[in-house]
Amino acid sequence: MAVDVAHDVTFQRQQIASRTYGFRIGGSRIQQERSTLPAVDPTTERTITDVPLATMDDVDDAVAAANEAGRAWGRLHWTERARALRAFADVIEEHAEELGRLDTVDAGLPISTAVKDAHDAAKACRYFAGLAGEVVGRAFPWSPGAPFMHTNREPYGVVGKIVPFNHPVKFAAVKSAPALVTGNSVIVKPSEFTMLSALRLAELADEVLPPGVFTVLPGGADVGAALVEHPDVPRLAFTGSVATGQHVMRGAATEIKHVTAELGGKNPLLVFPDVDIPQVARAAVNSLDLFRSPGQACWSTSRVFVHEAIHDRFLDEVLRVVATIQVGDPLDQAMDIGPVAYEGHRDRVDELIRSGIEEGARPLAGGIPDRERTGFFVDPTVFADVEPGMRIAQEEVFGPVMSVLRWSDESSLLAAANDVPYGLTAAIWSADVGRAQVIARELQAGIVWINTASARPVGMPFGGYKRSGVGKEGNLEDLFSYTQEKAVIVGTDARSSEDLDPVC
Ligand code: NAD
Repeated sequence: MAVDVAHDVTFQRQQIASRTYGFRIGGSRIQQERSTLPAVDPTTERTITDVPLATMDDVDDAVAAANEAGRAWGRLHWTERARALRAFADVIEEHAEELGRLDTVDAGLPISTAVKDAHDAAKACRYFAGLAGEVVGRAFPWSPGAPFMHTNREPYGVVGKIVPFNHPVKFAAVKSAPALVTGNSVIVKPSEFTMLSALRLAELADEVLPPGVFTVLPGGADVGAALVEHPDVPRLAFTGSVATGQHVMRGAATEIKHVTAELGGKNPLLVFPDVDIPQVARAAVNSLDLFRSPGQACWSTSRVFVHEAIHDRFLDEVLRVVATIQVGDPLDQAMDIGPVAYEGHRDRVDELIRSGIEEGARPLAGGIPDRERTGFFVDPTVFADVEPGMRIAQEEVFGPVMSVLRWSDESSLLAAANDVPYGLTAAIWSADVGRAQVIARELQAGIVWINTASARPVGMPFGGYKRSGVGKEGNLEDLFSYTQEKAVIVGTDARSSEDLDPVC
């Protein structure tokens, strides 16, 4: 029987709107009146629901509850925490369709991406649960008469996780997993533009984790800043723009907090003349993250440097692929991409597209968004004749906009590729892998893909050079970063303390 797509998506939206979305502190839902912010569906431009916002008192209460819960949680045997995290993974997986639909309606993510995000979140919880037994201290060489020396790894207490708008449920869960399994409690501050799935995630967490161990506080910059400055939140993990990252690092300075930051990118993709042109053109469109977010990905390789010998043919192939992309309601499985997440972001992308045109780049597909159309849609846009100094080659667009630049000699290519303040990812496509390895060494980026792109295999460190961030995520180092290492020195006889060197 044929599915009536229009009827079906309307029904799904009604279901989402019929629920209420509140927040919980210490496992109890906040019942009192709060000021609210509308959650707006970027496809219909309609308000889905009004979300109550945390107050400054709520931040204090949530931190106190998280501290209290964290004490017992941190003292559990690690196998107990790993078991609880696996149960969290199970409950996320059971609700993957529901969580995905929330991100599709609230953030505009294509439904296939959004459901996969929820499954990826469950996968990450299981990965970190599996690593929990690796969080061990170290033992030091010993000789008779000397003290025994070893280290312990201990949780910080409360971890503040501030996350961006682009993959709401995935970031809320994935980024919390290593902090939770090492014995911290976590307070997530989602983006004020995409809060619904994280709020639902917190309800699910309360089914399997002790109350207060995982909290989601809805709000904007004020709630984020309150967590950043709170004296009882000693560890902060921020994901977002460079500008906000700078605020976070300044705000954390008073209490000298441990901050890790995953920030923006303006990532190059280098195409050599010896490649299979149709294959790499498709890969370039894919690694703009056009098919998933659309283009709202920190790792998106949006600056495409193409050797002059194949430039025109390559561009033709890119345009051929882009022309096949269906833009529409992201709840409709037949659509490849939906709108960007919110109106202000559409305006920012619009402004950068206009700057490209004003600075002399040629839009060969897409262009200035159609404001008459309902929804914050931006058609996939491809610019040719981009020069390295133009804004669309320097600033992160975080949308479906590809800037194509022409290159002829390798040293100018490398200089231009590195000539941005960011250093998150880069990709090289060449039949000569040895040469690509040499170029990879020269690229200032935390991740370099050679003849592949956009894959983020579990366990590989993810994090940026330069202003793209501090610290790595998704691996053992990430896990260890939620612990403090304490040195323990045990005297074995009275004389051993006299023989020790003074500490400093
Ligand atoms: P943003 O910096 O505007 O906001 C991020 C979060 O910070 C939000 O929750 C926001 O409410 C909060 N915030 C705002 N002001 C604050 C303040 N003064 N103190 C504390 N918190 C504050 O970023 P965004 O627009 O939501 O997300 C897009 C950016 O995120 C892009 O730059 C993108 O590259 C980056 N990003 C990076 C990664 C990564 O892993 N490197 C992943 C996803 C997104």
